[in-house]
Amino acid sequence: MTDLEGPRDHCGVFGVYGHEDAAKLTYFGLYALQHRGQESAGIVASDGKKISEYKSMGLVHDVFKEETLERMPGHLAIGHVRYSTTGSSLLINAQPFTVRHAGRTISLGHNGNLINAHGLRKRLEQEGSIFQASSDTEIIVHLIAKNLWLGFEEAVVKALGMVKGAYSLTMMTEDMLIAARDPKGFRPMCLGSLNGGWVVASETCALDLIEAEYVRDVEPGEILFIDKNGVKSVKPWPETRSAFCIFEYIYFARPDSNIYGHNVYAIRKRQGAELAKEYPVDVDVVMPFPDSGNYAALGYAEARSMPLDLGMIRNHYVGRTFIQPSQTMRDFGVRVKLNPVKALLKDKRVLVIEDSIIRGTTARTRIKAIKDCGVKEVHMVVSCPPHRFPCYYGIDFSSRGELIACDNSVEDIAKYIGLDSLGYLSLDGLISSTKVEKEWFCLACFDGDYPEGPIDGLSKHCME
Ligand code: SF4
Repeated sequence: MTDLEGPRDHCGVFGVYGHEDAAKLTYFGLYALQHRGQESAGIVASDGKKISEYKSMGLVHDVFKEETLERMPGHLAIGHVRYSTTGSSLLINAQPFTVRHAGRTISLGHNGNLINAHGLRKRLEQEGSIFQASSDTEIIVHLIAKNLWLGFEEAVVKALGMVKGAYSLTMMTEDMLIAARDPKGFRPMCLGSLNGGWVVASETCALDLIEAEYVRDVEPGEILFIDKNGVKSVKPWPETRSAFCIFEYIYFARPDSNIYGHNVYAIRKRQGAELAKEYPVDVDVVMPFPDSGNYAALGYAEARSMPLDLGMIRNHYVGRTFIQPSQTMRDFGVRVKLNPVKALLKDKRVLVIEDSIIRGTTARTRIKAIKDCGVKEVHMVVSCPPHRFPCYYGIDFSSRGELIACDNSVEDIAKYIGLDSLGYLSLDGLISSTKVEKEWFCLACFDGDYPEGPIDGLSKHCME
């Protein structure tokens, strides 16, 4: 994955119940989940009576200061890091969302995307609901508020029964933490314990950072109500085929995370080993595009008993945005973040390992930078199949026009990027690298078979 072309990460959620420093723990949890969203960060905390909240645009360490967290006392907190997939990148869309209704406060953080948001929102507006933001997450809060007459837990079940699509949620009231995953389990979520308290997080790397013990993954279709009585698990819906996003294993999740006991680092290395079987290209140098290509590149080089070289060096001190060169200057934007090692690459036949190609624009710029070093040949292998179909479940490529593989052959893509050859891992090779049954996954962006539909305004097999 090339940083500037996306798809960028979606969102990360975190929650703590039963720790005196809940807000601070949440801050550290969000640090570990920063790769899942870099636009905004927010924390809501409760001491059992009073809720305090703070959210702003920016990275976790920019948003929160020591004094901010000091003003958020309590044993209960949830947090959220966001990259917008629906709703624009504005503070008003930052999460967690908090509403006060009928004497109760409800806060919610969402990772995923609701596919029937448009219709639900229209209906709620016709019934008098007033929305503050454009993100689809607020719909869930309104649906809960509308059904509170049933009792809080029933209202949550009722609301989640009405939404469709992908959601891993952390929610809280003054005295309860709630975690929920959609029935197909598109996005990851796990449960941990810490000194008699409970932690929920998008990924296990957040549990590791705060030294919480991993208990288990939250099941698809499961809702956890966590309060002074412990953890109550509810599975209100009939079991259905699961559709875990396989792209979490390719790119999104952090390599030190485990999902259902499968380590992401190990899976990415096996993707590289599968690539080595499918594309034993004869070259002098094997190198990744750092950092996301690193793990598959290790697997590729190991499988072929070749050394792995780091032919591009990453500048770790560049922020998310930097001043672009003016038009009169050469386009050296790519070198601000990544610079090829000319002395290593000159006169060599080079193989670059990449985890995915979405739009192709940044790969093209980077390959040009490599070619400018005077290489003899440059080849690329990619550790997943071509992305031919949009994602409607929370990843930010939601139209076919954004995908270079949608209307172009592999040869055409290689030509556009400037490669001597290009190979994509087969779907079978990808599945085999996970050691999990194919039926467990959503593979829609590769094979067009959407596990959950219809999307508002689109039919299930024609989501273009
Ligand atoms: Fe993940 Fe692709 Fe499915 Fe989206 S369409 S949930 S990116 S596998």
